[in-house]
Amino acid sequence: MMTDRPLLTEVCATTTPGDHEPEGSAVAMPRVHKFGGTSMDGAERLQALAAIIRDQRDPSVVVVSAMAGVSDELSRLADAATTGDDAPGVPDPATTLAAMKQRHLDALQVIVKEDAARASVAARIDEIFDGATQLLGEGPGAEAKRFTDQLMAVGEDLAVELAVSALQAEGIAAAVLNAREVVWTNSEFGAAVPDFESIRKLAPSNILSVVEEGCVPVVQGFIGSEADGATTTLGRGGSDFTATLLGAALGSPEVVIWTDVDGILSGDPSLVGDARVVPDVGSEEAVELSYFGARVIHPAAAKHAIASDLPLRIKNSFAPERPGTLIHSHRGAAAAFAAVAHKTNVALIRVRAFPTALAYGFLARVFGVLGRHAVPVDLVSTSHSSTAFTVDRDEDLSAVYQALSVFSEVDVLKDVATVTVVGRGMLREPGMDALVFWAVEKTPVYLISQASDVSINFVVDEAEAPELVHRLHLSLIELKEGAREDAAREEEEREEEVREEEAVEEEAPEDEALEEEAREKEASERKEGDRR
Ligand code: ADP
Ligand code: ASP
Ligand code: MG
Repeated sequence: MMTDRPLLTEVCATTTPGDHEPEGSAVAMPRVHKFGGTSMDGAERLQALAAIIRDQRDPSVVVVSAMAGVSDELSRLADAATTGDDAPGVPDPATTLAAMKQRHLDALQVIVKEDAARASVAARIDEIFDGATQLLGEGPGAEAKRFTDQLMAVGEDLAVELAVSALQAEGIAAAVLNAREVVWTNSEFGAAVPDFESIRKLAPSNILSVVEEGCVPVVQGFIGSEADGATTTLGRGGSDFTATLLGAALGSPEVVIWTDVDGILSGDPSLVGDARVVPDVGSEEAVELSYFGARVIHPAAAKHAIASDLPLRIKNSFAPERPGTLIHSHRGAAAAFAAVAHKTNVALIRVRAFPTALAYGFLARVFGVLGRHAVPVDLVSTSHSSTAFTVDRDEDLSAVYQALSVFSEVDVLKDVATVTVVGRGMLREPGMDALVFWAVEKTPVYLISQASDVSINFVVDEAEAPELVHRLHLSLIELKEGAREDAAREEEEREEEVREEEAVEEEAPEDEALEEEAREKEASERKEGDRR
């Protein structure tokens, strides 16, 4: 679908003439602004997006995700089609697509007041849904992942249409710039690897001319295309990655990730009620946090931004005036902080060497197996003759299991989660270990791993993870902050006391002087009286 779509620079226009002209567009490199699903969710949010872009001083490139929930619905449709599942409870494709279409048309109705302009966007929306219906009718054939990516792209294809409409309605010249023309990838459908070299050439040549015309290019996040022109996706949550790919290729001063929270928080707000915004995060900490479950930023995006020396800012599209979180692209630039993250969908593999095995070479054999089967490992802990490590639960582990069983006893725990404390500086503070282990005390732990001063990780039963996150946050952030506040208050009280004492001392000489004066006066009056 849509692979032959031309670049749409020629339709870069406003529906209503506006006076938006980004300052300095001839010189300044554009900032890339990426809007996530909740920031795209309906007319009001799309109008907020347009207002944010209107208020930018530098020229902008906009990257958008599908409206909230749309990618999940499409993914369920793709799964049902590939497994041939039409059991009760599995969504009916026609009903799901009709409701999805209505949601987009409802937003369009509010955003675009002018009938002809609205009809032309509605026709595009029709076309996209016709494509989806046809695709579902044809079915996945032998290439389920290829089929899934084609279908998933519908969400972002719809999103760019609405975002352009919202910008134009705000008087901003804007046009769809098809990500398939710029984000070239390999053919690993579902988790395509970008071709950085090509993107570095394609992005400036396709995007900068649009920007120089005073137009805002709006690009689908998450999708790209492979050598045959078929649509690929970068993996769930991949729009952040699109934004950093474009930002790095364009030499942008900053990429802004607009989402529904105030920035990177000290804990997942769905688990900790009192999460605090972290104003500054160093690059390594950001990668650890994103990798170990803080989904506010995609790990590939964080890694790529760092590798490209590209500052990233996370901001709240519901409160654009708030400062958000700045992720510095270099190591150790940020202030000390701590945050807790957790990741589910993890499997723990425990491997114990057979007693007859050689005393050396065991670990090399274990990791040799993992390397040959291309299974990425997250956390590792080892002892003399055994090792345990975590991998993604969705990996097909049967071949690895068999290969390891040749020389060791293997067991695989699938209902586990990792809980991670991230925070350079803080983890070095004296007493931190005690605070961490106070929180962990009540939770059975399968594995502890600390490979650097940036983070410490625990593997626990998945059901235990929320409580552990809560206790770690309480111990390391809430109580610690409380303790810091108490200390600050005590300090202030002490200073106040000192000030009062000094004031008394300063008053004292004055009093003495007055008393002296009074005594002298009294004496001289007495003398005067005696004389008389
Ligand atoms: P978007 O749709 O904008 O890409 P995501 O849902 O991918 O948004 O990421 C934002 C969400 O990440 C927040 O709503 C929040 O619930 C969740 N989240 C989890 N951990 C954190 C954290 N440490 N800091 C901020 N947000 C977090
Ligand atoms: N819409 C895609 C998803 O939900 C990409 C993204 O949101 O970043 O995974
Ligand atoms: Mg996201």
